Amino acid sequence: MYKFKKEFLTFLNIFSNSLRFEMLIRASNQRLFLPFYHTVSNHELVHIKHLYPVKDEKQFKEDLHFLLKHFKPIDIDELIKIADGQKSVSQNSFFLSFDDGLSETYHVIAPVLKEMGIPAAFFLNSSFIDNLDLFYRFKCSILVEAIQKKPPSGAIVSKIEDALRKHSIAAVNPVRGLLSINYAQKPVLDEIAMLLEVDFNDYLNSNKPYLSTPQIESLINDGFAIGAHSEDHPEYNQLSLEEQLNQTKHSIQFIQEKFNVNHKLFSFPFTDFGVSKEFFENIFDTDNKITDISFGSAGLKKESFTKHFQRVPMDNSNLPAEKILATEYLYYLLKAPFGKNSILRT
Ligand SMILES: [Zn+2]
Repeated sequence: MYKFKKEFLTFLNIFSNSLRFEMLIRASNQRLFLPFYHTVSNHELVHIKHLYPVKDEKQFKEDLHFLLKHFKPIDIDELIKIADGQKSVSQNSFFLSFDDGLSETYHVIAPVLKEMGIPAAFFLNSSFIDNLDLFYRFKCSILVEAIQKKPPSGAIVSKIEDALRKHSIAAVNPVRGLLSINYAQKPVLDEIAMLLEVDFNDYLNSNKPYLSTPQIESLINDGFAIGAHSEDHPEYNQLSLEEQLNQTKHSIQFIQEKFNVNHKLFSFPFTDFGVSKEFFENIFDTDNKITDISFGSAGLKKESFTKHFQRVPMDNSNLPAEKILATEYLYYLLKAPFGKNSILRT
């Protein structure tokens, strides 16, 4: 389904430029747009390199200029009022956020946003703050890089294949195997790192991919919102309801207590696809509220839970904002007659 959508969007891109963007927004009646990024960097990031494209500062600024041309930036307080029904979206507005708590947020992104007067929220994995641990997908990228930079001997390759097989990972080669590993299979990454003589702690210490506590405090002082993105970034549809709730509750509590923030905010790691109605009823339960609002990444879509917002990924392709938004809006309009724009949960 997702793959189909992506290909379809790329196809639509061929002619989306010729359509007037304002007309698309008006016709769809979707005046609130929620773009999100992971990071922005002017140099290569080995932990991300083999996973998805990263925009540089110039591309990022161009995206923001496009957004500012068509939408008014809003902050978290305004978004919460919209979610609570205290405010309506009277003009084209966008709410910007960033997932994964990466250090470029502090070094590159925040200075640009301050200069342009754009508010934003940053979603952090509680286990990774201060570079205490590494997201398992980042480990995959680091290992793929190690293999490509210095191809291992035949003996090491067969040991890697044995390790993958032991964890039920079938693949034509070690690189494919590494890139297909899921959350439950992640212990194999430490075994393979040993075989390739890669030390993840060394990587964390020398590259510092994540935000530190003082950097996060500085972002909060600058007026940015901070929220949770689970503890260690699992795929929610592979967890039990109890594990999903624990990951959510614990990460939000951690962020709230450590940084003394007012809001309880949560963005889903990977996707909220397949997450049940019961989960959302639990997190928004008025008597025992786990989060004020939450965020998914399914693109321009309506949600049955009004406190849950779907966002549009701005960095799963190298396309400029202009093209991403035009295709999202066009796709939305094309699906409208079939009633496919609303996410219903069971
Ligand atoms: Zn993430």
